[in-house]
Amino acid sequence: MKNLSPRQREILKLIDEKKDLSIDEIQQAVGISQATAYREIQELSQMGLVAKIPGGISQIENSPTRCVQCRGETNARTAFIIEQKDGEMLSACCSHCGMMALANNSNVRTAMTVDFIHGKMLNVSQAWYVLNSNVVLCCSPSILSFSNRDDAANFTQGFGGEVMDFTNAQKSINKMMTLIQT
Ligand SMILES: [Zn+2]
Ligand SMILES: [Zn+2]
Repeated sequence: MKNLSPRQREILKLIDEKKDLSIDEIQQAVGISQATAYREIQELSQMGLVAKIPGGISQIENSPTRCVQCRGETNARTAFIIEQKDGEMLSACCSHCGMMALANNSNVRTAMTVDFIHGKMLNVSQAWYVLNSNVVLCCSPSILSFSNRDDAANFTQGFGGEVMDFTNAQKSINKMMTLIQT
């Protein structure tokens, strides 16, 4: 990552306190012109440190969440979220890690995954999965989630892989990973 300028550090400190800032607030607090404020927040948002909102910026939730399974960075496109019975939320980087994490956790209330095409969150037990396609966005063998079976089947026409429901996908990935590890 590029080194931050003193102004950018100042903006980040402010955003930590205030959660969101308008361009005006940044100009006044840091003592810079509007054009400079825009340039600074442009850079900050390109580095993924703040989110741009209309007329300003907002805080991004604390630095990247780490996957419970592989400790890699999680991302919204392939997120897999486990809610435990004690209320704790665990994030996995993708369905591959999510399913492995589920298998080792007896304290699960519910789990959600993200539809690969539409980006919607859906309950893991209602999703369809494509295992081992050519599209590896995160961990390998890849598992992508789909909200309906047709989308999943169409996807395999172009990119290979096998369509499975949750139970079979989870069984398969755990079996594949055991084979790889031993
Ligand atoms: Zn992971
Ligand atoms: Zn992953």
